[in-house]
Amino acid sequence: MKRGLRDLSLVFLILLFIAACVTTPVTQREALILIPFEQEVALGDQAYREMTGTAKESADPRLRELVLRVGRRIAAASDMPDLNWEFKLIESDTQNAFALPGGKVAVYTGILKVAENEAGLATVLGHEVAHAVARHGAQRISQQMLLQGGLTVAAVTLSNQRNRNWIMPALGLGATVGITLPFSRMNESEADEIGIVYMARAGYDPRESVRFWQRFNQLKGSGQPPEFLSTHPSDETRITRLKELLPKAMDEYQKTNPKFGEGDLFLRPADLFGDVIPPKVQGGIK
Ligand SMILES: [Zn+2]
Repeated sequence: MKRGLRDLSLVFLILLFIAACVTTPVTQREALILIPFEQEVALGDQAYREMTGTAKESADPRLRELVLRVGRRIAAASDMPDLNWEFKLIESDTQNAFALPGGKVAVYTGILKVAENEAGLATVLGHEVAHAVARHGAQRISQQMLLQGGLTVAAVTLSNQRNRNWIMPALGLGATVGITLPFSRMNESEADEIGIVYMARAGYDPRESVRFWQRFNQLKGSGQPPEFLSTHPSDETRITRLKELLPKAMDEYQKTNPKFGEGDLFLRPADLFGDVIPPKVQGGIK
């Protein structure tokens, strides 16, 4: 009888596992998610309000509009176009960007100098949109729930400090607001893989993603460590991998209409911040 019960609970667990498995778009990977989608979206929303509430939004309307425009195009080309997407440009030298569940994305002005043009920015935003669509935050929360054992769905709220302490890092945010933590190597590679397809579908030349990472590497070589995803995978591996993914992304790009190529060049590469030059269309078909 006891044995029977144990078997039964095992069957139940397996059923739960199957029921909670989702398939990520583009990569078709099976992933485990134990919290309801609405709860995930609510968490993302709350964490986003906190993060952006204390941060200073960029005062440059043209750059803000640029982030919004590229972000919206990518979101529309993604597998979750109907999320309540938000794209904010935060004034900070940090070379970073982050995405929270439910389509809440923030880009720091520091990364714009590496992005250089719309397609470079689309590389960043494609990657971030992919994190949200692949539900990486909810996957990490689910892993924590299993690891900590006996955590119920009800415990997954930011309202008490003990829960905040593991939920914020699971969402990619540090305990201190303003710090973003890297996702796992697998999540990062997957976001690259999905992101390059999304940028192509949105009409941006995916070849720019390779150049973006090369610029990023150069910056690293200059002794100024960039923070955006700098931990993993190694940038060399990342560039090699992106080159492998290019044919598939180029296929998507060929099918896409309209094409924007590299889009507008928005910052003079040489002198980094401040000097915004007028938009110039580069080899794109508007
Ligand atoms: Zn990432």
